Amino acid sequence: LRHLVLVLGDQLDLASSAFDGFDPGHDAVWMAEVAEESTHVWSAQPRIVMFLAAMRHFAAEVRARGWALRYTHLDDEHNTGTLAGELARAVQALRPQRLILTAPGDWRVLHALRAQAKALAVPLELRDDRHFWVTVRDFAAYAKGRQSLRLEFFYREMRRRHRVLMDGDRPAGGQWNFDADNRERFDPVAGPPPVPDPLSFAPDAVTREVIALVRRRFASHPGALERFDWPLTRAQALAALDDFITHRLGDFGRWQDALWPGRPWLWHARLSAALNLKLLQPREVVAAAEAAWRAGRVPLRSAEGFIRQILGWREYVRGIYWTQMPAYAALNALGAHAPLPAFFWSGDTDLACLRDALTQTLRLGYAHHIQRLMVIGLYALLLGVEPRQISDWFLAVYVDAVEWVELPNVIGMGQFADGGRMASKPYIASGKYIERMAAGRYCAQCRYDPAARTGPRACPYTTLYWDFLLRHEALLAANPRTVMQVNNLARVDEGERRAIRAHAEALRARP
Ligand code: FAD
Ligand code: SF4
Repeated sequence: LRHLVLVLGDQLDLASSAFDGFDPGHDAVWMAEVAEESTHVWSAQPRIVMFLAAMRHFAAEVRARGWALRYTHLDDEHNTGTLAGELARAVQALRPQRLILTAPGDWRVLHALRAQAKALAVPLELRDDRHFWVTVRDFAAYAKGRQSLRLEFFYREMRRRHRVLMDGDRPAGGQWNFDADNRERFDPVAGPPPVPDPLSFAPDAVTREVIALVRRRFASHPGALERFDWPLTRAQALAALDDFITHRLGDFGRWQDALWPGRPWLWHARLSAALNLKLLQPREVVAAAEAAWRAGRVPLRSAEGFIRQILGWREYVRGIYWTQMPAYAALNALGAHAPLPAFFWSGDTDLACLRDALTQTLRLGYAHHIQRLMVIGLYALLLGVEPRQISDWFLAVYVDAVEWVELPNVIGMGQFADGGRMASKPYIASGKYIERMAAGRYCAQCRYDPAARTGPRACPYTTLYWDFLLRHEALLAANPRTVMQVNNLARVDEGERRAIRAHAEALRARP
C-alpha cells in the first residue's frame, strides 16, 4: 500500500486535504470507532451517536466511490479501544509507505497519532485543514506581539481579507457590528413569535443500529436518545442550512441573545455539529447568508450577526486553541477549585433557568449560546468550579463538542480562566440578567427571587454574583470594563458582606 489516509470522526469531508492526490489503485482510507473517544470525558449518548452514525454514513460514501476502506467497528472483536491501537493494527496489516492526515481538531489526538506513527516507524504527513479560512501558522503570525487578542479586530481583518459583507473598502451598511441592535427580548406575555420547527432528520436504519449500540455499550453514560434527529450526512446538512436560511436567519439577529423556557432552538442555526464534523463548509454557510441579504431576503443585522459567529468567532477560537495548547487546558487564573455540582449530570436542581438549560442539554445534546455562556457557564464561574471540571463537562455533553472549539469558549470566554487573553472581562451577571433576557419567564416559575441576594428566597446567581465581586474585587476594579460593577460594592455594609459570603459558602457546600 502506498498511502493510508486517516479520517477521524470530525473530518467527514471528501474534499479534505487528506484526499488530495488519492489514488484508488494504491491508497486506502482508515477509520476507527474506539471507546476511548467516548470515555476520556464521560461523553453523553447523543454526542456518541452523532459521531459514530455520521462516521458510518461517511464510510458508505467512501465505499460507494470504490475506495478501499479499513473500518473498525466499535464492537469488532479485536478492537483495541484506542486510535493509536487501531492505527498500529492497520499499519501491521496493510504496511503503508506513508500515513496522510489532515490536522485533527484535538491536541491529544494529534500527539497520540504522531507518537504511534513514530513508534511504528512510518512517516506521517500532516496537511493543513482547508475547512478553515485561517491556517494555524497565519493565526500565530497575527497573534505574535499582541498581548491580548480581541475578536473584533480579527473579525474586521477577516471581512476585509476575504471580501465578506464588504462594499468596496467599507463594511456593508457602513457598520462592522450590529450587536447593539441584536439584544431584543420576547414579549413577556405573548412570548416568542411563531417560527417553524427546524428540519428534523429521523434516524435511518444505520443510525438506529448505532443508537442501539450506544444504549448497550454506554448505558451508564448521561443523556437521552429519544429525540435524536441531527443531520448526519452532507446532503442532510445542506438541507438543514437551507432550512435555516429560509426560515430563521431573518430574525436570527433580533433574538440572538433571548431566552425562553422550553424553547431550545428559537432562531438558532442548529448547524454547529454539521460544521464541526466537516459535513458543511463554513465558506458555503457564510456565502448563503450573505446571498440571502444581498437578495433582500434577510436584514443586514441578522446576516452580519450570524456571519460574525462563523467567520469571526469560530476561526478565532481555533487560532487561540492551537497557539495556546497544551498549557491552555490547565489554566486557572481565578484560582477556582470547587467541584462541579453533581446535578450538572442530571439537571436535578431547583434553579428554574439552570434546570431547563441542563435538562435540555442532556435530552438533546444542545443548548444555544446564551444558555451555555450566561446560564450554565455563569453558574460554574460564580460558584468557582475548577475550570478543568466544567470544561470536561462541556466537552462531554454537546453534539458539537470538539476540543478546539469547546476549550477556548469555556476556559477563555466562559470561565475567564486564561486571565483575559481571549475575553476582555469575566462575563458575570446576577439573576437579574437572566430575568431580563427571558422576560421574567424563568423567575416567575422559580422558588427564588432574582433581586434578593441574601435570605431564604435569594437567587443563587445573585448571591454568588455579589460574592464574586467581593472575592475578586481588586481584579475587577483594575479592569475598565468591570470597574462600574465593583463600585456598587461601596453600598454594601460589612454585615451584608458577611451574609453574602456565608450564603455563598452554603451554596458551595450543596452536593
Ligand atoms: P448559532 O447560534 O445559530 O450560531 C451559528 C454558528 O456560529 C454555530 O453553528 C457555530 O458554528 C458558530 N458559533 C457561534 N458561536 C460560536 C463560538 N463562540 N465559537 C465558535 N463558533 C461559534 N460551539 C461548538 O461548536 N462546540 C462547542 O463545544 C461549543 N462549546 C461552547 C461552550 C461555551 C461555554 C460557550 C459559551 C459556547 C460554546 N460554543 C460551542 C459556541 C456556541 O454556543 C455554539 O456553536 C452554538 O450554540 C451552536 O448552536 P447553533 O449551531 O444553533 O449556533
Ligand atoms: Fe434562575 Fe434566579 Fe431566576 Fe430562579 S430566580 S430562574 S435561579 S435567575
